[in-house]
Amino acid sequence: MTFKTNLSIIDKQMAKLFGTNGIRGIFGENFTLDFVSEITLSLANYFKKGPILIGYDGRDSSILISKVVCSSLNSAGLDCAIAGLVPTPCLQFATKKLDYNGGIMITASHNPPKYNGIKPTAKDGVEISRTDELKVEEIYFKKKWKINQMKFGKTQKEEKSIQTYLNGIKEHIDIKKIKARKFRIVMDLGNGAQAITAPRLCRELGCEVITINEKIDGSFPGRGAEPTPENLQDLSKKVVKNHADLGIALDGDGDRSIFCDNNGKILTGDRSALLLSKFILKKNPNSKLITTINSTSGIEDIAEKTNSKVIRTKVGSVEVSRKMVITKAIIGFEENGGFMYGKHNQVRDGAMTLALALDLLSHSNKNMSEEMELLPSSITTKSKIECSKQEARKIIQTLMKENQKKDTTDGIKIIFDKSNWVMVRPSGTEPIIRIYAESDSPEKLNDLFAKYMSKIKSILGR
Ligand code: MG
Repeated sequence: MTFKTNLSIIDKQMAKLFGTNGIRGIFGENFTLDFVSEITLSLANYFKKGPILIGYDGRDSSILISKVVCSSLNSAGLDCAIAGLVPTPCLQFATKKLDYNGGIMITASHNPPKYNGIKPTAKDGVEISRTDELKVEEIYFKKKWKINQMKFGKTQKEEKSIQTYLNGIKEHIDIKKIKARKFRIVMDLGNGAQAITAPRLCRELGCEVITINEKIDGSFPGRGAEPTPENLQDLSKKVVKNHADLGIALDGDGDRSIFCDNNGKILTGDRSALLLSKFILKKNPNSKLITTINSTSGIEDIAEKTNSKVIRTKVGSVEVSRKMVITKAIIGFEENGGFMYGKHNQVRDGAMTLALALDLLSHSNKNMSEEMELLPSSITTKSKIECSKQEARKIIQTLMKENQKKDTTDGIKIIFDKSNWVMVRPSGTEPIIRIYAESDSPEKLNDLFAKYMSKIKSILGR
């Protein structure tokens, strides 16, 4: 079936199913098996043909959702194959490398346990574009799917996803150099899906691996599914106690990574992205780098030194990924620890990012904390406040009245100068508003952040 449509009209008319990152909801409430079946039939119409690779995270509801996804694809006449429990970047890379016509990952990433979700991947191994999300929504709302009663598809197993993924990562690093260093790594897996792949990768690279929260568990009983500086104290302590070279924490579906230096200091996603970008751009001058509007301005300084160019997008990994594809950028990143290496795949990838950090250390005579000291001094922070969509709108409308330079690419960014700004943006996945800020000194950052947090609370009347 083909359809021509005016997407801007659909965008205005239709309720959005896709959030910042795939479709997510509370399983059994607004994310039911009926919904899963119908959205998968819509995806089948969008993909048009199989085979489609299916993966899922460690949530309790993930396996049963995967069965409905496979049955729905089969009933529409598409073949599919089950990669099983894998990190999102593994499913995405395997979709591309093993020549699937698309992929569907069942995950709600770092959301609380009661959530689940669906993230479609195009055959190039990258999340489908925002325009294609609208096409899928149109099919869904207009019920333009069909059951193919002439020929059902088949479901098979795909056993090669994990090894294909790990081999793909290893193509981009100096294995010999890393092995020679016998790094000691502490890994907080957060009961998430990288427990399947990241420790194995490190062991194959000759590292000694110490794991925390390594048991996959959909209730995320360890430190929760989202790594934040506040819940990584255990990682920090274990790095120091074991004299490790590096610590890393991964999120529920293994695409985001937060690092800890050898002194136990937890790094923001911005700081680790600066370090990795500096390393990669030095080897690849005159490159393009994509990042979101809310990440550190230090990246422009780093890019300038290698005659490279930074392009900024709205918040959301899909925005970064798709821009990377179009511009052939070598790096993409978000402030939340989502780092993308274009030579591997234009998606966030916790294990690829870890491999790059090991490659960097193997090429350096400094330890991680000494490497960090050589970076630009700018620092970022962020927080979140629970609020409704209407309240979020009110906050942004009020801040629009401020007499400062503003950028409204996404939410509102109030810019005092190049390295001093505050940004406020409603989350695309949860009923919260996020507040980000950057400054060139810790004192200025504290003052700026406190000032705007109290402004926002007073707008909310709290
Ligand atoms: Mg994730």
